[in-house]
Amino acid sequence: MSVLLILSAFLLQDDERRSYSAPAFTAIYLGRHQLHDGSWGERSGTCDCRREDPEPGPEVQRRASELLIQLGEDSLDSRVRAQDSLWALGPGIIPQIRESAGDGDLERRLRCRQLLAQRHRFSKPGDLASTALALLDCLWQGHTHRSRDVCRGVAIGPMMEKGLRWLIQVDPQPTRDPLGHVLATLALVEGYGKSKDDILGAVAKTWLRGIAPSTTDSIEVLAWKGVTFYAARRNRLMPDARDDLGRILALLDRRPERLARIGAYLSRVWLGEIPDPGDARAMLCVHPLDLDPVDLFFGTLVFRHAFGREELIENWFGFEVRRALLVSQGTRQKSCDEGAWMKGTTRETVRRTALTAMSFQVYYLYVDSPSEWEAPKK
Ligand SMILES: [Zn+2]
Repeated sequence: MSVLLILSAFLLQDDERRSYSAPAFTAIYLGRHQLHDGSWGERSGTCDCRREDPEPGPEVQRRASELLIQLGEDSLDSRVRAQDSLWALGPGIIPQIRESAGDGDLERRLRCRQLLAQRHRFSKPGDLASTALALLDCLWQGHTHRSRDVCRGVAIGPMMEKGLRWLIQVDPQPTRDPLGHVLATLALVEGYGKSKDDILGAVAKTWLRGIAPSTTDSIEVLAWKGVTFYAARRNRLMPDARDDLGRILALLDRRPERLARIGAYLSRVWLGEIPDPGDARAMLCVHPLDLDPVDLFFGTLVFRHAFGREELIENWFGFEVRRALLVSQGTRQKSCDEGAWMKGTTRETVRRTALTAMSFQVYYLYVDSPSEWEAPKK
């Protein structure tokens, strides 16, 4: 009997596999873990996933106790202020509020219940990098804020709209979070490219001004900057990207790290050069599954550009690799990890999930994927 149950669960999963591709599945995870303000980040308030709230320190607990007393004060203003301040203290104080909701002054009990009813407001806003990666995953699947697709109850269009809306309200600060900044710029550029929405275009232009390649940039930041400049040029948000791509190439060239060599190779492709495929073979002399998600994505892009799709399937993103990735993606219906490649925290899971889906996009050759971006004609 139990064997039959396991078998039918397996068949059910297979059935789901037929109706959703691996990237399409990721939209389910992303939709369920989007924060109430439209961003993605450290934690979710919408499902049963493991909480990552740290225990509040004694100072926070003392402040919470003070504010809980103020909830019962006569002045409406101070009651409202106290409630807002409690939300800002973060989800760690939820147990304390739950206790206060049980006894004492009626006004205070009601206010505590209100706080708990809107518990999503305890979450901190998400971060630029997670939000941008989640949006890029969906954009490269061909979705925009106008998409009408619904994946297992997750409406993709409204999800994208909330995410993009959050992004355009952020004040760009390139030096504080260079990786988040470049990813957000790329998401805005691609958002504009897919939708031709004027507001996205205008905001993307502002953000593009903050991503001049610099010697202090990490290799990953430089690699993403290359993609971003080329995407901006493709979408006519910049008249020319040759100078910037050339600078990135100069900064990455002859550095020994694999991602630096990959970034240099792609810069050459997008500058219209024809780099030596032997270089690509040397830098990708590794098993794809041994790479971290960023190297896997960029490595897959290089492989596709250097050797074409046939070779990609034959010698890089082959059956074994795809099967290993599909098996490790969560597919159990209504479970927290459905559609995700899980890691220790929500933030890491969003990053790994989005990047792995993007690598699949290169394999699937959907027209929106950067694998389809041609080098500009000279
Ligand atoms: Zn969850």
